[in-house]
Amino acid sequence: MDGDFDFLIVGAGSSGSVLASRLAAAGKRVLVLEAGGSERRFYVEMPLGYGKLFYDPAVNWAYRTEPDPGLNGQRDYWPRGKVVGGSSSINAMVWIRGHASDYDDWQAATGSSFWGRENTTAAYRAIEDNADGADAFRGQGGPLHIRSGREPAHPLVRPYLEACAAAGLPVNADFNGATQEGAGIYQLTIKGGRRNSAARAFLRPAMKTGRIALRTKAQVTRVLLQGLRATGVEYRWKGALHRARAGEVILAGGAINTPQILMLSGIGPGAMLAGQGIGVVLDQPQVGAHLNDHQGINYTYRMTVPTMNDILRPWWGKALVGMRYLLTGGGPLSVSINHGGGFFRTDPGLDRPNMQLYFQAFSTLMPREGERPILSPDPFPGLSIGLSNCRPTSRGNLELASPDPFAAVKIHANVFSTDHDVAEMLAAVKFLRRIADQAPMKALIAEELRPGPQVQTDAQLIDDFRSRSGTVFHPSCTARMGADPASSVLDADLRVRGIEGLRVCDASAFPTLIGGNTNAPAILLGWLGAERILARV
Ligand SMILES: Cc1cc2nc3c(=O)[nH]c(=O)nc-3n(C[C@H](O)[C@H](O)[C@H](O)COP(=O)(O)OP(=O)(O)OC[C@H]3O[C@@H](n4cnc5c(N)ncnc54)[C@H](O)[C@@H]3O)c2cc1C
Repeated sequence: MDGDFDFLIVGAGSSGSVLASRLAAAGKRVLVLEAGGSERRFYVEMPLGYGKLFYDPAVNWAYRTEPDPGLNGQRDYWPRGKVVGGSSSINAMVWIRGHASDYDDWQAATGSSFWGRENTTAAYRAIEDNADGADAFRGQGGPLHIRSGREPAHPLVRPYLEACAAAGLPVNADFNGATQEGAGIYQLTIKGGRRNSAARAFLRPAMKTGRIALRTKAQVTRVLLQGLRATGVEYRWKGALHRARAGEVILAGGAINTPQILMLSGIGPGAMLAGQGIGVVLDQPQVGAHLNDHQGINYTYRMTVPTMNDILRPWWGKALVGMRYLLTGGGPLSVSINHGGGFFRTDPGLDRPNMQLYFQAFSTLMPREGERPILSPDPFPGLSIGLSNCRPTSRGNLELASPDPFAAVKIHANVFSTDHDVAEMLAAVKFLRRIADQAPMKALIAEELRPGPQVQTDAQLIDDFRSRSGTVFHPSCTARMGADPASSVLDADLRVRGIEGLRVCDASAFPTLIGGNTNAPAILLGWLGAERILARV
């Protein structure tokens, strides 16, 4: 592509979209190369199109992990957005910043108060246009509209919240406010009944400046290096290889693809690269290491009252809600799959919640490997209460499987590989059952279907979550920032140590995984990353 670009961003995902918008706002010329196509698709825009995007290779990298001993040898399915907006164009739209202390952890890991709680809270306030209005935590008037899931909440949310309170987890009106703990309703990245991806909120408006060139279906194959300086990238577009150059290259391909691009460029664990016949430019064993992710499990109940299954499964129901959405932009298709949520501690001695809850007035059987990849509502009134851990101690890693840039890396997720993670999940599923056993919910439940009442002992519960759990789609930290060069890839300014003119700005740069969903911190990274980059410190 012609032109003198100040910056070349690889990937128009959550972080990349925000970063491009901020750099352009500062007068910089930016080239964005995105492997996927446009996000202007019906099922991307319609919030409950989520189910249609989940396995769709037209918008999804659709990765499989290696067989995982922690999952009784199964391979997990890892969707990632391959479309403008990245994973924010296919995600479940829950807006969670994480626990305030997560940013104390970022400050400690990076040695910089720039990534600490004060500065990140101020940044979130500047980012948000929160429908609930501004307060000491929420922001209003920023580029990202956030709506509450409260209006309209599904009728089953109320008994769920009452049951949580009866189980000892009171209502929290704002998980992003003064405290995170409690049961409540998530805020969502939805605006006017349409998904509010990072592309819609940041990239597309910023393109009106004329300073951003976006090339879609352009997959970057490697970083071009002159010695230890990045000068541009090579990418495939319309069946041919091209080169693009810029003052600085910033990788924002996400936590799986960014480390892969680094490795393909000769930056990574030396022996691994040499084993694939790739010349080693910088032996950096931290690339692809420290893979952090949240692991989740759903408990499914058959109900005595109608749930969303009753309307979403039959053809006439689909037609009805479809018509309603098309005519009014409202109804069940205009909301997230997650109708309620929560954060709790499995041990009162802990100083912050270590578990997250998802309440869905809907149920589906997650297909395992070899089964038909489709998310279909169960043929009965069902609902799910799900759980995921906040800060697991299990760590996976990524391995370059081939020098072919179009072949996927090997994902060694390595979940439930520590006693800590197993014990914590065991305590959590027991608490989940306690919620379902409280009068407001119990009165509406016909039976627990998955795992079912026959699963009772600790060994059975553990075996169940090893066989049925899966990622909740938050891989992070695979090219992380840190003050310690021996255990990180990037400095606190997102620079790849040892290489000039190359940065990383996406979830792979997280110093630690936060206790919550990862779209908000990925957007934060783009927002604050731009400040670091522009400061040229
Ligand atoms: C199914 C699903 C549900 C989720 N639900 C939620 C939720 O409800 N709430 C929440 O907070 N988080 C959720 N997440 C997680 C969240 O969306 C991600 O953590 C976040 O979007 C990651 O941002 P990122 O910028 O790191 O990467 P991404 O947004 O994934 O962006 C990376 C971009 O880079 C592009 N790219 C990759 N490689 C190349 C290459 N070689 N050349 C060019 N372009 C490339 C990709 O196509 C993609 O567009 C979910 C994720 C998934 C997959």
